[in-house]
Amino acid sequence: MDINTLNTLYALLQKSARDSWKASIEALANELRPYFVFDNMAVFIVDPKTKTSEVAYARALGRGKTAEADAAWGDRIAAEVIVRGEAIIQIPKIKADAQTDRLRLSHLLGLPLRLENEISGAVVFIRFGGPAYNEEHVATAALVAMWLALLFERRNWHDTAKQLQDVQRRIRLQDDFLATISHELRTPLGFIKGYSTTLLRQDTSWDENTQREFLTIIDEEADRLTQLIDDLLESARLQSNTLPMKFQPLRLDGLIRDATLRLKQRHPSLLVSLDFGTVPPIHADSVHLGRVIENLFSNAVKYAPGSPLEVTLRQTGDKLLFRLTDHGPGIPEKHLPMIFERFYRVPSDSNASAGTGLGLYICRQIILAHHGKIWAESKLKQGTTFLVELSIRPPG
Ligand code: ATP
Ligand code: MG
Repeated sequence: MDINTLNTLYALLQKSARDSWKASIEALANELRPYFVFDNMAVFIVDPKTKTSEVAYARALGRGKTAEADAAWGDRIAAEVIVRGEAIIQIPKIKADAQTDRLRLSHLLGLPLRLENEISGAVVFIRFGGPAYNEEHVATAALVAMWLALLFERRNWHDTAKQLQDVQRRIRLQDDFLATISHELRTPLGFIKGYSTTLLRQDTSWDENTQREFLTIIDEEADRLTQLIDDLLESARLQSNTLPMKFQPLRLDGLIRDATLRLKQRHPSLLVSLDFGTVPPIHADSVHLGRVIENLFSNAVKYAPGSPLEVTLRQTGDKLLFRLTDHGPGIPEKHLPMIFERFYRVPSDSNASAGTGLGLYICRQIILAHHGKIWAESKLKQGTTFLVELSIRPPG
């Protein structure tokens, strides 16, 4: 091999090494054409589960652009190449004459994508009307096939690494969950046990006010425990899709107004502004949607203490958009995509506020059951907006 060929090959492979496998093949196809004539190129990949091959990439660059873009022309030869594990050249069955459409004179070259003994797919080139493939062409194409095999191997590694990260993150969440849940269950239990033991002590007598105070604490902590267990059950049912929804005509503006009234009763000094457009009723489960609004309100109060809240409701097309904005500390961008996951809480050293990371997960499951969308937008130190989009048409 002379130095020019080597340099050409080196430049070609280097230029084709891109971040994504699609961009890499695309670059390779473009870089290759000055040295290796082809009209179309298709790459087939064997699905390891089903053992069938699928077109991963198809590109029509030369003649017959429109006719061949779907890569069906390569199916047969690709399947044969994968079974035989060797390069196959297929020459046109008919002889060329003045009347023959060049598109019917297809020269096909198929090569396996092979790493060690594993065949992961095939690459097929087509030339309309020739020239016929010679030994040098096949050698060049074999190099391309090798490069493609490595490319897909790299993609598989990427996928595996990502799955692994996902699994690790889920394990971490479960671990955190166990720690949190035992802490969360123990705290109210500790209070209940402590105060009732104190009240039961024979050697001390408590005046009526103190007794009431202790009993109130016991009562509140029992409520907290109930709420926590409800949350856990609800999230488990939502996850397994066994929580039935009752869809009925519902005025979302009314539902939000009621939730706001309850919120103001609990936090009399809280400023909440409501700004509703005229909106039609929707089909929804009022209990569950009420839950969503309560959860979002309780987060705003918990994570943006003292901040005024703004609520808007608008119709655009056949959708309603609910927004709740606070002017609290905000959520760092890298955590935003995760906050709707089960048990996910944004780590924070000052975060003494109790919570299990179930609230937003429950919200998302409920909104998904309504075929809606829920997401958050946030700017650090400026605040957070939660948005819920629901269709005014009946779900399903
Ligand atoms: P739970 O709601 O189950 O009691 P939680 O409030 O921690 O617990 P989520 O409601 O799912 O769980 O919220 C997940 C995380 O998102 C919270 O831990 C918090 O870090 C962050 N978060 C939610 N709402 C806000 C907000 N308005 N401002 C800043 N951070 C928020
Ligand atoms: Mg919450």
